[in-house]
Amino acid sequence: MKITFLGTGTSQGIPIIGSDHPVCLSENSKDKRLRVSVLLEWNDYTFVVDCGPDFRQQMLRANVSKIDGIIFTHEHADHTMGLDDIRPFFFRQGDIPLFAHQRVFKSLEKRFDYIFTTGKKYPGVPSVAKIEVKNKPFLVGDLNVIPIDGLHYKLQVFGYRFHNFAYLTDMKTIADKEVEKLKNLDVLVVNALRIKPHISHFNLEEALELIERVKPKRAYLTHVSHYLGFHDDVQQILPENVFLAYDNLQITI
Ligand SMILES: [Zn+2]
Repeated sequence: MKITFLGTGTSQGIPIIGSDHPVCLSENSKDKRLRVSVLLEWNDYTFVVDCGPDFRQQMLRANVSKIDGIIFTHEHADHTMGLDDIRPFFFRQGDIPLFAHQRVFKSLEKRFDYIFTTGKKYPGVPSVAKIEVKNKPFLVGDLNVIPIDGLHYKLQVFGYRFHNFAYLTDMKTIADKEVEKLKNLDVLVVNALRIKPHISHFNLEEALELIERVKPKRAYLTHVSHYLGFHDDVQQILPENVFLAYDNLQITI
């Protein structure tokens, strides 16, 4: 499986509009972070986890010409607002499969009513195929995927395990029985917002604690805010098998 980090930033992205914070002014491309998302490719399959406001730019940047579906972690805007830009894929492929919790579909149906309407659609409006995710394994392409249930403050979120790769974002609390599902991973991706604690996201310490518990061969940190610091500085203080992800990073497992 080839994994491409399409975006590794928190909700506002980095740089933040109008900010003069040094990390926002950094000229290092590793400090420029679009909203969080990953592209997963294996055999002939291409899936995306989440489609935030940068989805169009991310699809162009990664040269994606076909997607077999979008798997949602939760309904927050930084993970969903690019949905309209499935149109080029829809025109070529037909209905685009979306995988999400029932509650996430309810939220998308409100905000993108024109996509989900069962009535007559305005010409050019895309259509989707809804696949409801519950907290039990489901099939994505030819792969059995295991949801990892967690809390983002009080909001339920799903992370996902694809074989020996797991992707968690916007997690703050994970029950022990869900952590058990993360044993024997080659790669764990987990959110690490900043150094200071945060009400709805792991800070660096909490992310490293989870990595220490789960003991994957390697771990990558994502959903990063400018407060975490410059990429090159943060990388220096991380344990040997932990890496600060950056946009366009590709790994193969
Ligand atoms: Zn988020």
